[in-house]
Amino acid sequence: MAEKLHLTGCLPEELAAFFVEIGEPKYRAMQVFKGLHERRLHDFEEMTDLPKALRAKLQETATCSILTVESRYISEDGTRRYLMTTHDGFPVETVYIPTESRDTICFSSQSGCPLKCDFCLTAKLGLLRNLTAGEIVEQIILVLNDVYGVGVETPHGTNLVAMGAGEPFLNFENLIKALEIMSNEEGLFIVPNRVTVSTAGIVPKIYELAAIERRPHLAISLSAPDNELRDRLMPINKRWNIDEVMKAAKVFEKSLKRGERFTFEYVQLGGVNDSDEHAYELADLVNRYKLNRVKINLIPHNPAEQLDYHPPDNFQVDRFKEILESSGVSAYVRRPRGRDIYAACGQLAAKQERNE
Ligand code: SAH
Repeated sequence: MAEKLHLTGCLPEELAAFFVEIGEPKYRAMQVFKGLHERRLHDFEEMTDLPKALRAKLQETATCSILTVESRYISEDGTRRYLMTTHDGFPVETVYIPTESRDTICFSSQSGCPLKCDFCLTAKLGLLRNLTAGEIVEQIILVLNDVYGVGVETPHGTNLVAMGAGEPFLNFENLIKALEIMSNEEGLFIVPNRVTVSTAGIVPKIYELAAIERRPHLAISLSAPDNELRDRLMPINKRWNIDEVMKAAKVFEKSLKRGERFTFEYVQLGGVNDSDEHAYELADLVNRYKLNRVKINLIPHNPAEQLDYHPPDNFQVDRFKEILESSGVSAYVRRPRGRDIYAACGQLAAKQERNE
């Protein structure tokens, strides 16, 4: 049997083509699009504005839900981690992070990850496979439904970050398509301006993103100020080194909108890349390439048993930040969320124990 079409991953024009193909009027496309994304229904049967016969036909030929939530973990800080599986059995992890002013959903772009960043637990999985656009969108829908309830309007101001499992720029097409679907006014209406994509430094895609008019914000994971150390921590540096990343960042910077900035992420590994010298070197690097619309997010390492690193001293984190700032580089410390449930950065690797 041919695989059923996952309608959640279709753009409105693709839905229109699908309805024509099954001998239905085109206008059904927008009805279903709204049902899937605005009302976040995950069963055609709930789309009672469609004729019964059409619902039955859709049930036969298409699907609106292909991910299964296996477990949900809730942190003492309110963060929720969802372990989902694809129809072919691959793990997908998504994290919901509430804050006072707005909520953020951190989604995965791949199951596993092919990059071998030495400090990241997801790397241990290797790449399992790229997620489809529909699987990316459905993660967001499932989380919103769990947190707010089916049919409840998506809160204005919900932010998305592509910082879950995987390297989003190695699944660029599906990622961009998913973002386009989610930005539709008649659907989730989460515009690119509310989305941040994080890359380990897939340089050609940084240039590609720079050329896109309506695009998400960019974060680049740097985590070392020199090639020798970065080669060791992030082997992708052997393919595109710091100089190449910086040149791409400069081009990206020139394409920023008024008031917009971009980000370098710097995972701080105690005793490895967090010394005063590293901070001076990092500031020097940013200043040498004349990057003046960048902020640095310092992410204290989230430990895991299989990782050979430990978090930095709090005192040193503050010092590192002060050194950067006194050298004219803005820096922020990202305090971990959901560490107790393995939901923090770099900890996503399908740990299965339930906590509820
Ligand atoms: N592949 C992309 C996005 C996923 S990771 C990237 O590398 O940017 C999101 C962020 O978590 C990255 O900045 C990554 O360096 C960071 N990270 C990975 N493992 C971590 C860990 N154990 N502790 C803290 N941050 C980590």
